[in-house]
Amino acid sequence: MNYFVGIDIGSTAIKITVTDEHKRLVGFKINASGSMFYKYAKETLQSLLDELHISQDDIAYTVATGYGRKLFKEADENISEITANAIGAQEAAREYGEIKTIINIGGQDSKAISLDSEGNVVNFAMNDRCAAGTGKFLDVVAMNLEIGVDELSDYHFKSTGTPLSISSTCAVFAESEIIGLLGSNHSVEDIVSGVHYSIAKRIVKLVKRVGIKENVYFDGGPALNAGLVHAIENELGKKIFVPEYPQITTSFGAAVLACDAFKNMPEVEREF
Ligand code: ADP
Repeated sequence: MNYFVGIDIGSTAIKITVTDEHKRLVGFKINASGSMFYKYAKETLQSLLDELHISQDDIAYTVATGYGRKLFKEADENISEITANAIGAQEAAREYGEIKTIINIGGQDSKAISLDSEGNVVNFAMNDRCAAGTGKFLDVVAMNLEIGVDELSDYHFKSTGTPLSISSTCAVFAESEIIGLLGSNHSVEDIVSGVHYSIAKRIVKLVKRVGIKENVYFDGGPALNAGLVHAIENELGKKIFVPEYPQITTSFGAAVLACDAFKNMPEVEREF
C-alpha cells in the first residue's frame, strides 16, 4: 500500500498528515514547532508512522509546506501554504460544497484566500505584521485571564452582556487594556467575547480585501474555538464551514498534492 505525507511546518505548530492513495485521511500528528523545526518535524513524522504501523518504505511521496518547509530536505517537493491550504480546504469540504473563500488564522498570521470556480487561488490577503487577529493574541489573552486557549469558547458563550469593545489595535496595548478591564470589575466572560469580536472585525476587514464569496471555510488552530467562529459568523453575516480537524487543513492539502504528483509521475520514476 502506498501512503502520502503532507508536512506543514508552521510558526507555532508542526502538522503532519498521512493519506492513502484515495486521498483519505489515515492519521495526523500535531507538535510544537519549537526552535529546531527540522529535528522536531523528523521526530513527529517518525512517531506518527510508528503509531500507524507504516514503514518509511511505504511512503510514496512527501510534500512539505509552511513557514519552515524548505528545511525539510527529505520532501520530494515543497509548495506554498496558500496553495496547500486551498487544496486541503476543497478536499476536506467535498461533501459540504464548493469553497470560494478561506479564512486561515495561524499562530502568527492570518490570511484570506479567494478561489475561482475551478478551485484556483485568484487572490489572497495576509496580516503578518501585527499579532492582533492571530492565535498569538488569543494565547496572550488566555494567559492574562489565567485560562487555557481551549476554554475561551466556553467563556464566550457564558457572556451575558453586550460584548466589550477592545479598542487597541496592537496586541501589546490590548494586553494592558484587558488588565484595565479586569481592574474595572468586568467579567472574564465579557472580556473574552469582546476579544473574539475584536478579532472577528479585523478578519472581516481582511476578507473584504479579497471579496466575500460563499462558501466560506475557516481553518487554523483558532478555528477550534467555537466562540470565535460564532463572532466571525455574526460580523460576516454568513455561516462558515469549519472542518473536523481545522489545524491540519494545510498539511492535508500537501498530502493530497503528494498523491496527485505521484499519480502524474511516469511509471519508471515511481520505482525510485
Ligand atoms: P501555525 O500554523 O501558524 O503554527 P496553527 O494553525 O497551528 O498555527 O494555530 C496555532 C494557534 O491555535 C495557537 O496560537 C492557539 O491560539 C490556537 N489553538 C491551538 N489549539 C487550540 C484549541 N484546542 N482551542 C482553541 N485554540 C487553539
